[in-house]
Amino acid sequence: MRVVVTGGSGFLGSHLCEALLRRGDTVWCLDNHCTGEPVNVIHLLGHARFNLVRADVTHAFTVPGRVDAVAHLASPASPPDYDRLPLETLTAGSHGTKNALLLARRQGARFLLTSTSEVYGDPLVHPQPEGYWGNVNPVGPRSVYDEAKRYAEALTIAHRRTLGVDAGIVRIFNTYGPRMRPHDGRVVSTFVRQALAGAPLTIYGDGSQTRSFCYVDDLVRGLIAMLDSHHAGPVNLGNPAECTVRELAALVLAVTGSASRLDHRPLPVDDPARRCPDISRAHELLRWAPEIDLEEGLRRTVDWFLKVLGGGRLRQPLAS
Ligand code: NAD
Ligand code: UDP
Repeated sequence: MRVVVTGGSGFLGSHLCEALLRRGDTVWCLDNHCTGEPVNVIHLLGHARFNLVRADVTHAFTVPGRVDAVAHLASPASPPDYDRLPLETLTAGSHGTKNALLLARRQGARFLLTSTSEVYGDPLVHPQPEGYWGNVNPVGPRSVYDEAKRYAEALTIAHRRTLGVDAGIVRIFNTYGPRMRPHDGRVVSTFVRQALAGAPLTIYGDGSQTRSFCYVDDLVRGLIAMLDSHHAGPVNLGNPAECTVRELAALVLAVTGSASRLDHRPLPVDDPARRCPDISRAHELLRWAPEIDLEEGLRRTVDWFLKVLGGGRLRQPLAS
C-alpha cells in the first residue's frame, strides 16, 4: 500500500512508519515538527520507500501519485504540549483532520483517525466501553485537546456517512515506549528520566489516580489492523492492566534500580481519576489484544532511554 502518515515524526507515528515499511508499504511521512523530532525517522531517510515531507496539515496538502490509506496522527498529545500549543491543537484536530479527510476522499483511500481516551474525559463509567459518551469539561485546560478530538471524530464519521469515505476511528489509551521525548511531561517518560538521574519522582496528587499503559509495539499492531480493515469504530486500543501512578513509580524505581525519592506535587485541574479501556470490541473486530506487560515494556523503554541519555545497560529483568 501507499500510506500517508500525518504526524509521522512523532513518538507513535515513527513506529507506525517503521512497521509499514517493514511489511513492504510505501510511506509518506508528513510532519511540521512542532512536538515530534525529525531524529525519530532519521534512520528511515535512506529507505527507497520512505518519504519525509515537512508540512503543516492545517493547510491543504497532497503527495504525488496514488494514496491507498491516510493515517492521521498529527496533533500535540502530551498535556504540557497542548497546554503550550492550545490553538495549534484545536486547528490540528479541526482543519488538520478536514484536510486529511479531503485527501482520503479524493483518492478513495482508507482513512484512520487516531483519537484518544481523553474523549471520555474524567469518566463516570469504568472501564470505558466505546458506547460511553464521556464526561468532558468543555472550557477546562484539557478541553483544547479533548474537544478537538471529539470534533475530529464527528467530522470523520460524517465523512463516512455522508460522503462514503472509508473512514475509521481508534481511541488510543496511554501508550509508552522508546522515542518518547524525555521532557515531554508524560508520566512514563518523566519518571524514567527522573529515576535514571537519581532525581525525585514527581507524583501529582496522592498518586491514587489510575492509568492503563500500553507498550508501543502492541499499539502499532492495533493501528495497522484497523487501517487494514473497513471498520468505522470507534475502537478502543489500550492495555486493560490498570495501575495507580504510585504503583507505576514503584515499578520504575524497581526496573531502573534507582533510589530516587517521591516528591508530591499538586494534582493538575481536571486530571482524570481513573482510566481503563474495555477492549472487547478490538478483540472481536480486529482479533487484537496487547501482549507486552508493563514490566517488560518499561524494561525496553528504560534500555532505550539509557542509550539516548548515555550510560550503561539496564540491570537484569526483575523476575530473574
Ligand atoms: P507526538 O507529539 O509524539 O506526535 C505527534 C506528531 O504530530 C508530532 O510529530 C508533531 O510534530 C506532529 N504535528 C502536530 N501538529 C501538526 C501539524 N499541524 N501538522 C503536521 N504535523 C503536526 O505524540 P504521539 O504520542 O505520537 O501521538 C500521536 C497521535 O496519537 C496524536 O494524534 C495523539 O492525539 C494520539 N494519541 C496518543 C496517545 C499516546 O499515549 N501516545 C494516546 C492517545 C492518542
Ligand atoms: N503525572 C504525575 N507526575 C508527572 C506527570 C504526570 O503524577 O510527572 C500523572 C498525571 O497527573 C496523570 C498521570 O500521571 O494522573 C498520567 O499523566 P500523563 O500526562 O502521562 O497522561 P494523561 O494525563 O494524559 O493520561
